[in-house]
Amino acid sequence: MNTFSSTFYPWLKTPFDALNQQQQSGKFPHAVLVCGPAYSGKQAFLKYLAQALLCQHSAALHSCEQCHSCLTFEAGAHPDFLAIQDQDRTIGVDEIRMISEKILTTSHFGGARIVVIPDIGRMTIAASNALLKSLEEPPGNTCFLLSMSDKANVLPTILSRCLRFELRLKTSETTAWFMQEGIFIEDALQRQFFSRMPRLAQQWSQSKQLSLFQSFNESFDGWLEGNINTEQIADFLLAQDDLNLYLNWLLFLAYHRQDVSQKELIHQQVYDFLSDYGRVLGQNMQLSVNNFLIKLKQSWKGEKCASDRAHL
Ligand SMILES: [Zn+2]
Repeated sequence: MNTFSSTFYPWLKTPFDALNQQQQSGKFPHAVLVCGPAYSGKQAFLKYLAQALLCQHSAALHSCEQCHSCLTFEAGAHPDFLAIQDQDRTIGVDEIRMISEKILTTSHFGGARIVVIPDIGRMTIAASNALLKSLEEPPGNTCFLLSMSDKANVLPTILSRCLRFELRLKTSETTAWFMQEGIFIEDALQRQFFSRMPRLAQQWSQSKQLSLFQSFNESFDGWLEGNINTEQIADFLLAQDDLNLYLNWLLFLAYHRQDVSQKELIHQQVYDFLSDYGRVLGQNMQLSVNNFLIKLKQSWKGEKCASDRAHL
């Protein structure tokens, strides 16, 4: 038997308990929407719920992992589980229409049909309208399990048709969880940054990317001091799969370390760089990162000069 505590994060306990209660009273909602930051475990949570709702011997919203439904689910072949992949792309109307048509047919296992759509903010307007139609007239025994990020733009009419859970990640809670999981982040600011993305911290801790991130920060400080050249920092950033995450970190760092005017300048530089970067290729990428870093350093040092002057 799957158990919540061994699988999940403490911040998901509130929505789990509420849904479990509804399940026990036979009133599980036809649409659930979990809203929270990226890397907070939303998708894994929806999948867990999906398996439990499909399980033939589930107890207290936990799946048995042994029945025919669970085995089919775990093999990725459950015909009553309809999911859109969690990928960084838009969701078009055809995908939603295909799901809407499938849920009108009888379920294969005679039980529930579960639709999982991660990050509904990715839907086009047409896709959103198509989903809304299904949510307005949900076929019996169909449950929609949806997620969205904090800042997603989603039709209010969709929001109003779902039982919605807002995940609240508290630094104190995630920090305690980091310790429990053996995820060691010494720097308080880095810990605060990752406390919004605990699942990423966990993945990075397992893949050693966390120590790479920590050594980048030492290099970054060394670079600001003039001990490391710009090309080295640019090469490192270019080698990262998730350059966006590093840029977000620099914004976070600027937000905490810089004064208002510098913060705004750095924000602008990062956004300008991001919009340019998507258009450049090959050698120009290196040039683009180098130019960005040179400007960034000037802005960053500007704050230093100002604070030096303030101390005189
Ligand atoms: Zn089962």
